[in-house]
Amino acid sequence: MTSEQVLDIYKKTGALLTGHFLLSSGLHSEQYLQSALVLQQPDIATRLCAALAEHFKDSSIEAVIAPALGGVFVSHETARALGVRALFAERVNGELTLRRGFTIKPGERVLVVEDVITTGKSTKETIEVVKRSGGTVVAAGSLVDRSGGNANLGVPYKSLVTLQVPAYPPESCPLCKAGSKPVKPGSRGVV
Ligand SMILES: [Zn+2]
Repeated sequence: MTSEQVLDIYKKTGALLTGHFLLSSGLHSEQYLQSALVLQQPDIATRLCAALAEHFKDSSIEAVIAPALGGVFVSHETARALGVRALFAERVNGELTLRRGFTIKPGERVLVVEDVITTGKSTKETIEVVKRSGGTVVAAGSLVDRSGGNANLGVPYKSLVTLQVPAYPPESCPLCKAGSKPVKPGSRGVV
């Protein structure tokens, strides 16, 4: 699947939003990717994640993990394509952790995935969850890399699309300077 095809799916499903958004990273941006609108179509989710899994099919992956909630379906569908377990990490008191009886065996080869990577913060936290459990993080993957290729995760990383979308710290956001107020994508029923 080409970058253009993936982006086309995001556009057609209304998942590529334009406005003034407060991202979960704390940065402001004119664009927001609402992957849930793509992933609500199970057949599309399966196809996209199969394309992502293709990059890792020769990496002897034994389990896939993502941070909840956004990454859960990506983990599930990528794991389906690789024929391995799908896990997710959840926040407890702000810290990502394994719950629900999920375990990672020492040395187990794990792929960390996400829907969209912006700064890579959640992905890095998920990598730490795997390491703390004794697992080996083989690589990371996301449907969309909107860091413009600048997310330095410390492990090999692949995405289906790389976007160069400007994101600004609040104090230097031109949209704020122009007088508009950022919207948290979840706050208007978008999520
Ligand atoms: Zn702003």
